[in-house]
Amino acid sequence: MSSDKERFRKSKKGTRAVHSGTSPSKNSLNTPVYQSSTFFLDDNAYDMWMNGKPRAPVYSGRYYNPTNRAVERKIAHLEGAEDALVFSSGMAAICTTLLNFLGQGERLVTTRNLYGGTLLSLDQDFVRFGIDVHYIDVKDLGAVEQALKEKETKVLYCETVTNPLLEVSDLPKLAALAKKYGAVSIVDSTFATPIACNPIEHGFDLVIHSVTKMLNGHSDLLGGTVVGSTEMINQIWYKLRNFGGSMDPHQASLVERGIKTLQIRYDRSTKTAGLLAEWLEKHPKIEKVIYPGLKSHNDFELSKNMMSGSGNMVSFVVKGGDEAGRKLMDNTEVASQAISLGGVESLISMPYTTTHASWTQEDRLNAGIDLGFIRFSTGLEDFDDLRDDFDQALSLL
Ligand SMILES: *Cc1c(COP(=O)(O)O)cnc(C)c1O
Repeated sequence: MSSDKERFRKSKKGTRAVHSGTSPSKNSLNTPVYQSSTFFLDDNAYDMWMNGKPRAPVYSGRYYNPTNRAVERKIAHLEGAEDALVFSSGMAAICTTLLNFLGQGERLVTTRNLYGGTLLSLDQDFVRFGIDVHYIDVKDLGAVEQALKEKETKVLYCETVTNPLLEVSDLPKLAALAKKYGAVSIVDSTFATPIACNPIEHGFDLVIHSVTKMLNGHSDLLGGTVVGSTEMINQIWYKLRNFGGSMDPHQASLVERGIKTLQIRYDRSTKTAGLLAEWLEKHPKIEKVIYPGLKSHNDFELSKNMMSGSGNMVSFVVKGGDEAGRKLMDNTEVASQAISLGGVESLISMPYTTTHASWTQEDRLNAGIDLGFIRFSTGLEDFDDLRDDFDQALSLL
């Protein structure tokens, strides 16, 4: 068999997930774990290193590790991008990438409707560095254009599908606006996964994922990645080297194994999520269900055009507020009460008091995150069992 993994770029996504990047050694079928902090300085390595070339194979993680490289190639292929870098966590990928483009006095245009950890870092760190963090509503394209026009902007940043309101960003229009005003467009596409959406095809420059979630899919590690053109990824490589948030090769090996089943996990959990959303929407004890695949969702049409699946995340509001919400979570027996998402096991949490607890009350309520708001990450359990579990838990309210 050919070891040229580039041929898989043209394959369907399930095939790419299995074969792209995998880098066997001698007669091994799988990529070995190169558990080594350093590598022999042969002529090539020495030459690359001395000439300041990215990925000189002289030192692990921060420079180059073959196990990490296998994962980078696999993710790049899945996103239809030239190249990728992996990091120790999603936050390492986000901060390293943004700080490659932003310095003192330079402007970032983004929304407050972001992953809680990203918002914390922008408010606590980026502002302290003198970076001009300018918030607008990315759903308001007029406001986006105004913000890009009124001051030179280095980066436009948003998320494909937001947490936990599952709002869908209009990626083609946002990418076009960024291009028009010379800003680099960067999107955190964790909730969409490369199976449902490839933002580069919609014109975005860079795509970030928290690999911790559905890409790895087994709730057993943290990881992050950024994907884009060779030119930009090489630039960001120097920041990975300097800041040091590198992935460990053992972690990379687990991620590679996880991604091999990404498509079937995505398809299965998305199908179950859709059935649950429809079932919950009809339940008398449920106030509201938020799921992009439901006709009642504001972005139903946009998500249908932009994505090839509505994802495994379902949000809903239970009647009876905080007390009812807590009771429901305590009563579920199949879904575990925990934050995080995208794993094989279903997880249930209340963003108001967990992932979004650090937000001001005003921010939470403005975003529609009220007491009794529940976020559900659909795992791989059978629909019948999840539905029956919700049925019994709701009957106790
Ligand atoms: C979890 C998450 C992150 C942060 O990733 P870590 O791996 O926990 O650092 C960033 N963005 C989104 C959308 C996430 O869900």
